Amino acid sequence: MDLAQDLLRFVAAGPSPYHAVAEMARRLDDAGFTQLDETAQWSLAAGDRRYVVRDGSSLVAFRVGTRAPTDTGLRLIGTHTDSPTFKVRPREDVRRHGYAQVGVEPYGGLLAHTWLDRDLTLAGRIAFLAEEGAVTTSLVHLRDPVLRIPSLAIHLFRELREEGLKLDPQQHLVPVLGLAQAPALREVLAEAIGVPADAILGHDLVTADTQPPALGGSDGTGLYAPRLDNLASCHAAIHALRTAETGQATQIVTAHDHEEVGSGSAEGARGSFLADTVARIIGLLDGVDPQARARALARSVLVSADMAHAVHPNYPDRHESEHRPQLGAGPVVKRNAGQSYASDARSAGWFIARARDADVDVQHFVVRADLPCGSTIGPLTATRLGVQTVDVGNPMLSMHSCREQASALDIAPMIAVLRAHLDAPAA
Ligand SMILES: [Zn+2]
Repeated sequence: MDLAQDLLRFVAAGPSPYHAVAEMARRLDDAGFTQLDETAQWSLAAGDRRYVVRDGSSLVAFRVGTRAPTDTGLRLIGTHTDSPTFKVRPREDVRRHGYAQVGVEPYGGLLAHTWLDRDLTLAGRIAFLAEEGAVTTSLVHLRDPVLRIPSLAIHLFRELREEGLKLDPQQHLVPVLGLAQAPALREVLAEAIGVPADAILGHDLVTADTQPPALGGSDGTGLYAPRLDNLASCHAAIHALRTAETGQATQIVTAHDHEEVGSGSAEGARGSFLADTVARIIGLLDGVDPQARARALARSVLVSADMAHAVHPNYPDRHESEHRPQLGAGPVVKRNAGQSYASDARSAGWFIARARDADVDVQHFVVRADLPCGSTIGPLTATRLGVQTVDVGNPMLSMHSCREQASALDIAPMIAVLRAHLDAPAA
């Protein structure tokens, strides 16, 4: 399989966390996994391939191992499904100065200027009243570039040169839908999902670029795409799980929404979704032993896979001099003395050993001592589950841009190490 093309297709299919989860579910279905409902009674046996979705935007998928979790621990991979973007406001219709606009608020730490002058659309889900009176949701992804955030002409912006670009999200980043007589967004959405406009009760919609992901650079190994943070890691994790064999240990991939805004939700990494699912898996496989959960988690390892900062050729000073990951040079192990990353010698050692199993070289990252450190779901999940955790990720540039950059050379090595992690016998 051409992994680069497959990743580009995956990213294109995931303009919102809801779409990313639907695409992961589709790929899992193709590989013989079946969906479990959180409200149903579960039963599990060795070799079973299952996945669970919470609120449409987070997913836990797993393959049951041949031995009990208390004997082997769990092999976990954690990722997130959301990316910085703009979220549409509940009363979205804005009309002024002869234009129809769409009210939005920033979601996550976005690089706002990268969203200017791009051909944008909307994706997400819509809640509507179905004929029998039930509140139903439907995914929507408008294919046409219905939105645009125009920049201000330099002729009207004399202070730009002295002051640089300062964007007020309330004032300067309101997308234009058309001229005042253009149809309201609600009418466009209603037509897209085939319901009357007055049946729409609400929406979770985000902006997305319409330019398709592409391979670039003189050797065609540049990955130019939106949402590589963190759909590239979701892709690698799901690929590793799909292609792994049934092993001794139960293999779990978790993909959470809301990482970019602090993970605080029922389906986010601070919520109970993974803990609830892990408790059910251990309870079903290890019987009624009240100590089973603690015993199993004490043997488990979580690889938290989120993208890493490659050194930027125009800003090399922004990296610590001995820790400058390169694009195309393999997975990055992230450390931080302040625990913004969960890795320690033991968990990082686990990942490096698995990389050696897979014949893959790893790189290392710490942030400069005079810069703040980003974070991931790693420390949150380690705190919540009490499981040893290593933070890793493939290197990239332009993180949190509307259009990011990574390298196709890094896809297969990361998948190989994640496979070695899932396949590893008792920790
Ligand atoms: Zn991320």
